[in-house]
Amino acid sequence: MILAIDIGGTEVKLGWVNRRGQIGEKSSASVSFDSYRTPISETVLLEASRFCREHPQPLEGVAVSACGQVETRTGTVIGTNGKIPGYEGTCLKALMEKSFQVPSWALNDANAALLGECFIGRAAGLRDVLMITLGTGVGGGVLVQGQLLSGHRGIAGELGHFSLRADGVLCPCGKRGCYESYASTTSLVRRCEARSGLTGLTGRIIFSQAPQNPLFQEEIAAWVQDIADGLTGLVHLFNPEMILIGGGVSRQEEMLIAPLRRKVLTGCMPRFAEGLRLESASLGNDAGMIGAVRFWLDQEQGR
Ligand SMILES: [Zn+2]
Repeated sequence: MILAIDIGGTEVKLGWVNRRGQIGEKSSASVSFDSYRTPISETVLLEASRFCREHPQPLEGVAVSACGQVETRTGTVIGTNGKIPGYEGTCLKALMEKSFQVPSWALNDANAALLGECFIGRAAGLRDVLMITLGTGVGGGVLVQGQLLSGHRGIAGELGHFSLRADGVLCPCGKRGCYESYASTTSLVRRCEARSGLTGLTGRIIFSQAPQNPLFQEEIAAWVQDIADGLTGLVHLFNPEMILIGGGVSRQEEMLIAPLRRKVLTGCMPRFAEGLRLESASLGNDAGMIGAVRFWLDQEQGR
C-alpha cells in the first residue's frame, strides 16, 4: 500500500491507497492549529507516523500532494507566495524517504487532483484535460496528450495567476488582476459581503441563501461570467476535451456548473467547442491523495 499525504494550508489528509487508486483508511489533522509556530513539515511527519501506527499496512511508498509550488524532480516546496511561514524550502521527498525508508514523490495539490480525476475519476481515460479548483484561491492543472504539463521545474499549470484585468485588484502573488482574484470562492464572498454589508459569509451560505436573495444571484452570475471569461481563453490555449471544476462549490450544478458550461461553450471559437465537456470533479477531498499515488506510480514505473 502507498501512504498518501495531502498537505493543505489548514489541514493534512492521510490515507492508504492501493495501486488501482482505491482508498482505504483515512484521517486528517490540523496543520495551522498554532498559527504555524510548529512548522507544517513537523506536524505532517508526526501525523503520518501516528497514522501508520494506528492503521498498520505494509508500506511501499509515500505519495505527497502539497499546496504551493512543488518542484517535482526534487519534491521541494519552492514557492508559497509567503502565505505559510516556515514551509518554503521544505524538501518533502527527502523528508519522507529519510523518515520512512521507502521511495517517495511529491507534487502540487491541484496537479495531483487533476491526475486523480484522470486516474479513476470523471476524466478517467481522457488525454487532454484542464482542471481548476475553486476555493480560497484557484488551483490549476493541465493534462496534454495524457501527460501532466509540468514545465521546466514541474510547477506549470498555475492557472490562477494569469491576468484577467490589467488594472485589477492586487493578488497575494504581487501582481494585479490575477484570475484567482476573480474566480476564487473568496472573490464571490468578497463581492457578496461588499454588496450586502454582511460579514462572515461563505460559499456554502451564499449558495444556500441565493434562491431567496436576488443580490446574491446577481453576484453569483457576475462571478460565473468571470470564471467563464478566463476558461474561454484557456480553451483556446490548450484545446481540452474536458474541463473539470473542483472545490466545495463545484457541487452547485444549477447555479455554477450549468451556466458556466453554457458560457464557455458559446464563448469560445466554434471548433474549440466541438466535443468539449465541462463537468464538476468527482473525487472530492480524496482527489489529491489518489492523484499523488498516480504520480508516484508513474515515477516508479518510468525509472
Ligand atoms: Zn496572482
